[in-house]
Amino acid sequence: MWIPYGHQSINEDDIQAVVEVLKSDFLTTGPKIEEFERKVADYAGARYATAVANGTAALHAACFAAGIKEGDEVITTPITFAASANCAFYCHARPVFADIDPETYNIDPADIERKITEKTKAIIPVHYTGQPCDLDRIHKIAEKYHLTVIEDAAHALGASYHGKKIGSVSDMTTFSFHPVKHITTGEGGMVLTNDEQLCKRLKLFRTHGITREEADLEHGKNRRDSGNYMGPWYYEQTELGYNYRITDIQCALGISQMNRLEEFVEKRKKLAERYHEAFSECEDIVTPKQLAGTDSSWHLYVIQILNHDRREIFEKMREAGIGVNVHYIPVYTFPYYQAHGYQDVCCEHAEELYRHIISLPLYPDLKEEEQDYVIKTLKEIITDSRGKN
Ligand SMILES: *Cc1c(COP(=O)(O)O)cnc(C)c1O
Repeated sequence: MWIPYGHQSINEDDIQAVVEVLKSDFLTTGPKIEEFERKVADYAGARYATAVANGTAALHAACFAAGIKEGDEVITTPITFAASANCAFYCHARPVFADIDPETYNIDPADIERKITEKTKAIIPVHYTGQPCDLDRIHKIAEKYHLTVIEDAAHALGASYHGKKIGSVSDMTTFSFHPVKHITTGEGGMVLTNDEQLCKRLKLFRTHGITREEADLEHGKNRRDSGNYMGPWYYEQTELGYNYRITDIQCALGISQMNRLEEFVEKRKKLAERYHEAFSECEDIVTPKQLAGTDSSWHLYVIQILNHDRREIFEKMREAGIGVNVHYIPVYTFPYYQAHGYQDVCCEHAEELYRHIISLPLYPDLKEEEQDYVIKTLKEIITDSRGKN
């Protein structure tokens, strides 16, 4: 038996949706892409959406659209997947790390403000585990210093902040559709925005910086009258973009998964509540606290283990067939970062949190019996290791 920490949920409707595309004329860049974009944008309450190859590409595209370039700084959290910070490097800018709030584990707005310099151009808050960051305070800071806010909402599809769905309020919000996330397209990502110009730049970036729109052509303007240089075939590359396209096959799966999102989030919430209850009396386990006004979509259930050897607990859980994990190793401690000027960075709360955390299995198809086994096993392991510390 093996209970993973996360797992996709694929049903017959999902499979049929993919099969239909395989039998159609378009495998990629067909009608399913816009349909998927519309569906996610409408759900989250955003005007525009750009679906891309994965969540990392979504972050890269958002940084490009925000005009992040060499010499700029971008502030993010160290308790995240490396992509949230790497996207600044992709644009020849530098990520700067603000510490977390030890209560919510999300980026601390007060430390964001301390880390702002003349070079700061953007903030990338990450809604860690699905709990929304303190967006009101982050937006106030962004306004004061004229910064772009790019929410990394890879964990937070379906979450809300003061009654508004994540994806509707910042300059841009990015999502990932990797199989462990709320919905999956295999690989996939998306950027939501309410700004038409940003959306245009995102779409340009997705296909090599190539445009066919007459209004955006540069040389075309001058050559319009010069004989037969232009025609219905004509396009121009006006920026350096990438091939970050997503396929119709993937988007068909995404559309079908979106029909199940509410059910997925409800199941995750219910399982999270069962964990809360099970551990509420355990003094060696810290369960996740929720910031007032936020409604988490529970991508991860992360506990802190106190008074015990986290590694021993982790290994014994794995031995018992439970795929616990650790999210995340503070990004700036990685060798790449250490070799690129981050040797003196220290986010105290992030490093302290990292020493104690374990992610427990959480996904819509996790059965209550399986969850009960996880709970029982963890309690037993903790009881057994008592006295050794
Ligand atoms: C998953 C994830 C990403 C990257 O998404 P991919 O689709 O794997 O590229 C970025 N940020 C966070 C916080 C993530 O969890």
